[in-house]
Amino acid sequence: MRAEAIVDLSAIKFNVELLKKTSGTKLLAVVKADAYGHGLVPVAQAAVSAGADYLGVALLEEAVALREAGITAPILAWLVQPGSDFSQAISLDIDIAAASLKALSEISLASRNLQKKARVHLEVDTGMTRGGFLAEWDQLNSEHVKDIEIVGIFSHFARADEPGEKQNQDQMARFAEMVAKLEALGFSQLIKHLSNSAATLKNNAAAFDMVRTGIAIYGLSPDVQTLGSSSALKLRPAMQLRAALYLVKDVPSGTPVGYGATESTKSDTRLGVVTMGYADGIPRIARGAGVWHNGARAPIIGRVSMDQFVVDLGPDSKAQSGDWVTIFGNGSHGEYTADDWGAASQSINYEIVTRIGPRVPRIYSPHIY
Ligand SMILES: *Cc1c(COP(=O)(O)O)cnc(C)c1O
Repeated sequence: MRAEAIVDLSAIKFNVELLKKTSGTKLLAVVKADAYGHGLVPVAQAAVSAGADYLGVALLEEAVALREAGITAPILAWLVQPGSDFSQAISLDIDIAAASLKALSEISLASRNLQKKARVHLEVDTGMTRGGFLAEWDQLNSEHVKDIEIVGIFSHFARADEPGEKQNQDQMARFAEMVAKLEALGFSQLIKHLSNSAATLKNNAAAFDMVRTGIAIYGLSPDVQTLGSSSALKLRPAMQLRAALYLVKDVPSGTPVGYGATESTKSDTRLGVVTMGYADGIPRIARGAGVWHNGARAPIIGRVSMDQFVVDLGPDSKAQSGDWVTIFGNGSHGEYTADDWGAASQSINYEIVTRIGPRVPRIYSPHIY
């Protein structure tokens, strides 16, 4: 085996239980993008068994894959493109988000054809200026929704990872107004949901009837700078990424390494070749991260290539080819974390775990550490 991402499903369960307790309300586990790279179906099953009330995905095909795997929990898909096969969603009891009158009319048509009402959550734009009804909200009337079942209303925070920012209060106030309009149209049993992970952890006033937690169920902090690390938040990182050293070699000081010879060794040293590269989601620009081997950090040297990168194991290293190294883990032993890789790549932990490519097998283990 060259590399593997070990996913600790008991960590996912622990995080779901913790977040449910923290929010005191229903929890939708966000499993879009292959469960942030952790594996759609195993994570969804773990989340549901830990008490998640809903599963949330971006795409209809992600929701269909969950149903095909036999998962019967409520599912919400929030980026179902106009022109999609809404009848498939309705038949499979997949809740759909709608963010425009055009979407509502397409969903209504599919409902009439099937003689089964679609379950719809209306997405409203409260200041993120991305998805959701904005100006069209004022035109919405009962006619637009008479053939469908309006189950919920939701919106999304732009700055929940900065809890002191006024925009959070503004978005909550706007949300309340938009909810009030819908209630005035006669809808009273709505599931109202606004919070992502950061708001779930830091803004309980925004919990409403359900929270939508993504990154935190994977045990990662929504923002290490503003909210603190996983351990400060009492979350358990679920993924450990490991690889076997393909080759080790001893080189003299001043040896240039990799494409462009962007770096040279600063002393006589032992180098290790790791067979993971940007095709596997290791960012090409990563600088200042590396691997953990035998109790020590070995930083990347030179540019990351498509399928491999080189680490400086140090002059005293006893590493041999075939030895396993940890690329990131929960940090408890001193290994690099997904947070470290995010910082080393001008990015965030979300992007690091989500982009681990399909060539890397996911191994499910109850215990990593
Ligand atoms: C991705 C997503 C979430 C989850 O966000 P996290 O920061 O990972 O908790 C919640 N809601 C919507 C609409 C999303 O797209």
